[in-house]
Amino acid sequence: MPELPEVETSRRGIEPHIVDATISRVIVRERRLRWPVARAVDQNLPGQVVSSVGRRAKYLLINTDGGSAILHLGMSGSVCLVERDTPASVHDHVDIEFESGQTLRFRDPRRFGSLHWSKDPLSHPLLSNLGPEPLGDEFDGVYLWQKSRGRKVSVKQFIMNANIVVGVGNIYASESLFIAGINPRRAAGRIARQRYDTLVDAIRNVLTKAITAGGTTLRDFYGGNGEAGYFQQQLEAYGREDEPCRRCNAPITAIVQGQRSTYYCKSCQT
Ligand SMILES: [Zn+2]
Repeated sequence: MPELPEVETSRRGIEPHIVDATISRVIVRERRLRWPVARAVDQNLPGQVVSSVGRRAKYLLINTDGGSAILHLGMSGSVCLVERDTPASVHDHVDIEFESGQTLRFRDPRRFGSLHWSKDPLSHPLLSNLGPEPLGDEFDGVYLWQKSRGRKVSVKQFIMNANIVVGVGNIYASESLFIAGINPRRAAGRIARQRYDTLVDAIRNVLTKAITAGGTTLRDFYGGNGEAGYFQQQLEAYGREDEPCRRCNAPITAIVQGQRSTYYCKSCQT
């Protein structure tokens, strides 16, 4: 599933190619995505000029003066740039064509993605209740500490809750808690202020590293199939059950929390 770093990499990959470009046509080959592709998308986009490509959580925002197309990549979606008239595969559901002849193509084999139109995307129902961006200024130790008071939920599930902070997926949550030395089972409300500072730093570092790793795949967005895939990173704890902790050599433990796998070191995560 594309996580925040993959979506951010997609944003950085496509933005320089489509900013200031005029949209000439939108081709929707398949409307039945997770939600039907609104006709407002293909009615409103043609004639508009792209002013920027933004991202909120895992949504890409193709912004124009008249409004924004909101694209979610779902479980298996990807975007790439192709020349007009490049034959579409069965999974290429939407093309946004530009006057230049370039085409932004959305591919989604499992069709869990979605495409919406909004004049005010940040107040769209899908986006309006989301927590702050993990790499933004609003997200810091004080914020997490305040939000967590009185919460009995595990800290791992707490940081994976998109109403608290967006974009901390399962692997990134495990890795951040390992780096911060915090036991993922600990109740969110029982963690001290300073430890939340450490955790926020860890989350930011893990995500930033993933985005940097993704930067090496940028070339794939033009003419390629756009499938960047999971970024190759060294994982500190995730997927390392029974292997020695890189910090203390104790075996890494695997548990399940909220139906998701967690990997941690019982010895140095307290
Ligand atoms: Zn350890």
